[in-house]
Amino acid sequence: MTYTPATTRYDTMPYRRCGRSGLKLPAISLGLWHNFGGDTPHDTKRAMCRTALDAGITHFDLANNYGPPPGSAETAFGEILRSDFAGYRDELIVSSKAGYDMWPGPYGEWGSRKYLIASCDQSLKRMGLEYVDIFYSHRFDPDTPLEETMSALEAIWRQGKALYIGISSYNASQSREAARILSGMGVPLVIHQPSYNMLNRWIEDEGLLDALEDSGTGCIVFMPLAQGQLTGKYLNGVPDGSRATQGKSLDRNAIDATRIAQLNALNDVAQRRGQTLAQMAIAWSLRDARVTSALIGASRPEQITDCVGAIDRLDFTSEELQSIEDILAQ
Ligand code: NDP
Repeated sequence: MTYTPATTRYDTMPYRRCGRSGLKLPAISLGLWHNFGGDTPHDTKRAMCRTALDAGITHFDLANNYGPPPGSAETAFGEILRSDFAGYRDELIVSSKAGYDMWPGPYGEWGSRKYLIASCDQSLKRMGLEYVDIFYSHRFDPDTPLEETMSALEAIWRQGKALYIGISSYNASQSREAARILSGMGVPLVIHQPSYNMLNRWIEDEGLLDALEDSGTGCIVFMPLAQGQLTGKYLNGVPDGSRATQGKSLDRNAIDATRIAQLNALNDVAQRRGQTLAQMAIAWSLRDARVTSALIGASRPEQITDCVGAIDRLDFTSEELQSIEDILAQ
C-alpha cells in the first residue's frame, strides 16, 4: 500500500536548534536500537516509521550494530526509505554511528580511522544512501589518539558522506577536547548523544551540558524513558513481553518494590499535569533548552503516539519540579 505522509505532520511538533548550528531537530526523535532487527515483523517497523513521520518526527537514529543481527536495523530502514519514504529524503534526518563491536578482528570496533571510515561506508550501503545527515563516534576510545578519531570524522564530513558530525557518551572533558580538535580542522562538533532521564542525571552532574554550551554543540538525549521504566508499563510490576523480560539491556531486578513505588508517585504527578508518565518523562528531559531532542524507542506505533503527546505540555511549574525532585530523592 502506498504511503503518503500526513499533511498535518508539521503542524504541532516543535523543531529545536541543535547548538549553534543551522540544524533543527524535532523535540522528539525515534531511535531504532531495539525492535528493528530480525526479531520484529517488517510491517511493525514500517508502521512505527510512518506513525513517527506523520507526527512530525523527522529524525531517525541508527547505528552500525543495531539489530539483531548487527546491521539488520539499517537494512530494514533502507527498505523503508525506498518503499514508504521514497521522495521524502530531504525531509529526513538520518543518523548512524560506529564504535561498538561490529565485525571480527582488530578493525571492527572502537575509534580508529580504519574502522570508522569502513563502517560508515557499510552503513551507507545497507541503507542505500549517498550520505547520512549525522555520523557519530559511538564511544570514546581510550587507546586511539583522539586526533585520529576526529580526523576520521573530518574525512567522512569532507567527503560528503555525513552532513554533520557527532559524538556519543563522551564525558565533559573528552567532549571539550573533541570540539577543540575538530574546530582546529574547521569542522563544527554539531551534536552529542548522551543518556539522560530522571533516573540517570550524569549530564547535569558531570558538567557535560556546560561543556556542550561552550562549544555550541547540541544535545540529543537517549533513553529518556529509562528503557520504558518511566512509562505506565511497570506501575504494577514487570509485564510479559516488556523489555525487562527479554534479558537484554534492561535488568528486571532494577524494577524492585522501591522503584515501582517511585514510578507510581511520579505517575501521580504526571496525572495531575494531565499527562501520561511517558509524556511527563519526555517533557522533563527537554526542560533545559540546551537539550535539543529526546530520542525515544518504541515497540509499537501506539507508544510513539503516546510519547508525541508530550509536546502538548512541555513546561513545568516550580512546584511540579520540586515534587519530582522529592520523589527521586526517596
Ligand atoms: P527509551 O528510554 O525511550 O525506551 C524505549 C522503550 O520504552 C520502548 O522499547 C518501550 O518498551 C517503552 N515505551 C516507549 N514508549 C512507551 C509508551 N508510550 N508506553 C509504554 N512503554 C513505552 O529509549 P531506548 O532505550 O529505546 O533508546 C532510544 C534510542 O536511543 C535508541 O533506539 C537509540 O537510537 C538511542 N540509543 C543510543 C545509545 C548510544 O550509545 N548512543 C544507547 C542506547 C540507545 P517495550 O519494548 O518494553 O515495549
